[in-house]
Amino acid sequence: MRELTSTPTILIVDDDTTIRIPLERALSNAGMKVVVARDGAEGFAQFLQCRPDIIVTDIQMPFKNGYELCLEIRATEEGQIVPILMMTGSEGFESVEKSYEFGATDFITKPINYQVLVNRVRYMLRARQTFLELKSSQGQLESLGRVLDNSASEIFFLDSSSSAIRSANKAAVENLGYSEEQLYRYKLPELFDPSSADIVPIMDACAALQNGKLSYYRCTTRMRRANGSVYPVEGHIYLSKNTSDTSIVCIFEDITHREKYENRMRQLAYYDSLTNLPNRALFVERFQLALETAKLSGSKVGFLFVDLDNFKYVNDTLGHKAGDELLVTLANKLSHCLQHKSYSFYTDGNLARFGGDEFAILLTDVKDVEDLKLLASGLIAALAEPCVIYEREIITTLSIGIVVAPEHGSDPDILLQRADVAMYEAKKRGKSGYRLYSESLYIDGLARLELARDLHLALNKQEFVLVYQPKFEVCSKRIIGFEALIRWTRHGQAVSPMVFIPLAEESNLIWEIGRWVINEACSQLREWHLQGVDKCLTVAINLSTKQFSDPELYEFIAATLEKHKVPPENIQLEITETAFMVNVEAVTETLHRLKRLGCSIALDDFGTGYSSLGYLVNIPLDILKIDKSFIDKIDVGSNNSIISTIVALANNLDLKIVAEGVSTAEQLAFISTLNVDYLQGYLWGKPMSEPDARKFLLSIINETIDKK
Ligand code: C2E
Ligand code: CA
Ligand code: CA
Repeated sequence: MRELTSTPTILIVDDDTTIRIPLERALSNAGMKVVVARDGAEGFAQFLQCRPDIIVTDIQMPFKNGYELCLEIRATEEGQIVPILMMTGSEGFESVEKSYEFGATDFITKPINYQVLVNRVRYMLRARQTFLELKSSQGQLESLGRVLDNSASEIFFLDSSSSAIRSANKAAVENLGYSEEQLYRYKLPELFDPSSADIVPIMDACAALQNGKLSYYRCTTRMRRANGSVYPVEGHIYLSKNTSDTSIVCIFEDITHREKYENRMRQLAYYDSLTNLPNRALFVERFQLALETAKLSGSKVGFLFVDLDNFKYVNDTLGHKAGDELLVTLANKLSHCLQHKSYSFYTDGNLARFGGDEFAILLTDVKDVEDLKLLASGLIAALAEPCVIYEREIITTLSIGIVVAPEHGSDPDILLQRADVAMYEAKKRGKSGYRLYSESLYIDGLARLELARDLHLALNKQEFVLVYQPKFEVCSKRIIGFEALIRWTRHGQAVSPMVFIPLAEESNLIWEIGRWVINEACSQLREWHLQGVDKCLTVAINLSTKQFSDPELYEFIAATLEKHKVPPENIQLEITETAFMVNVEAVTETLHRLKRLGCSIALDDFGTGYSSLGYLVNIPLDILKIDKSFIDKIDVGSNNSIISTIVALANNLDLKIVAEGVSTAEQLAFISTLNVDYLQGYLWGKPMSEPDARKFLLSIINETIDKK
């Protein structure tokens, strides 16, 4: 029998270097000597040569797999007692049972948490130590007693036929809280917690040991103390035979700490620490299981990928603490909503946070895809109620992508990817909505990734230009200025700003693009001024809400105006209502500074946004632009009272009004009946390239000169 050395030797058998190398490092750092083998055959050779104290092995390997290796090792004399820890995972649940069948001592599931594994190995080493010491002192009663009483493990000797306790060491007596006399009245099974499911298999194993069918058995179970409290143990049971006597030796390790540690590691590995929801790893495991079950039963599994719109604004403007608080609040709201009785296809625990502002919802036994759509719109409606974070009301909207298995795939990775594509599609359609995946979206999704990549290069490649759409005074039909609109030509084709601006807003790229627009528009206006156009001519520049989180926005605008010697009065800044969704104070403050500088401020797309009119009073606005969607409705003759109301409101607040997107004579006729100041639209002027805009301006100058 091999003596246990102070530095234990661990044999790692795995063909996968991405697991083997970190594992080797973790065990070496824990003070163990590590021997490695790259396949099952080499593993067996190393076992014979190095006589390791423990073997940690993978299952899927070339030449000889983990099961075969186990069998071969167990067939040798020394190999009967060496603990073998199997790393199971991708092979599914049956691999665990199979590991035991082939003689593994314990298993650990992938993905491997190296801390947990090292801890597991330590426990196995301790049990092995006691086991070896006991074995080597058989027959030497004196040292046996010493080993027994020094051991922290609980050791019992059982009558091999009745399982009655014949003797026990100090640790067993103390931990269980019985006196020795009391303890000897029990049979081993009577010390187990009656609700523990492992009692019967343990008794079966004792019988098998006695018949010689088994030489060693490992188990985990729960024991009950005299005072009724219960604790988890790992048991190592074997038959001890000598000339005069046969008994069953049980070594039990109290694994309370190990369980706590493993639970804690599990919590860390599988749960999001902020919201306490399952994380992506756990969700994917559950998803996989749900998909397997659904395949067998022929049912449908649904998956909702939920992304918060504009969460980045909260983080960028109110700080991460507020962002965290918002996430927790929303997580609670989501799980509260999901508990509703009409969502019977939702099971508790199937809501996860994927990180950032992404949540995932798994739905099993889905009868009808329509139910998922109802759920999605229910969640959107429920979260539209403002929540108060740091005394500030924040409205959050969601974009949700929906996929259904088996229609959209049966592999979790593919389904996740497709839900992501559907979610982006929902975002592209103006956020706050859901979208069911369809094949055509996938193409879009791929194209989108390529687009994002090219967009990052577009500035350097000088692929952007500005076009200019004229604005006119309604009563005089005079041109009063232009709106600068960005254009991107990619591979010779125009990409709409409606597509690439939202993409640029997903990163701080919009800051750079926005600065380019400001600089270009100012430099152009200066050139026109030098060419003699009307000094009152204004240029409107669109500012994305995201640009307000650029801390240097104000300084940049001021410096650019100065650089090009453009009077601030000639610049209009167009903002949208989303700018006031999150950090009203900071945005309002920046706008006040810009206003003091001399720029005028226009509220773009008015009427499409968040309809809280309160902020209109507090921000330094000059102009309201009625959104094109209202103008479009004039032709249909539907609810024109909205336009009249907006105009009345603007008149009351002393704001100028621009009707935008006027493209038909009917629209113009209706607009003319209202107190609308300016007009912008295809009817009187489409966006034009700089040379066309210049020609247009110069023709006006010439017209005026001609008239003189
Ligand atoms: P927007 O600021 O509301 O700009 C008006 C859009 O309506 C422009 O589309 C313009 O071409 C279009 N339009 C104007 N009159 C008519 C009309 O009579 N009929 C029709 N069908 N359309 C009309 P465009 O240039 O495609 O820009 C779309 C949006 O992209 C803009 O909406 C704005 O939100 C954004 N955008 C454009 N340029 C910039 C920019 O430089 N910076 C930022 N942040 N956003 C920009
Ligand atoms: Ca605009
Ligand atoms: Ca607009």
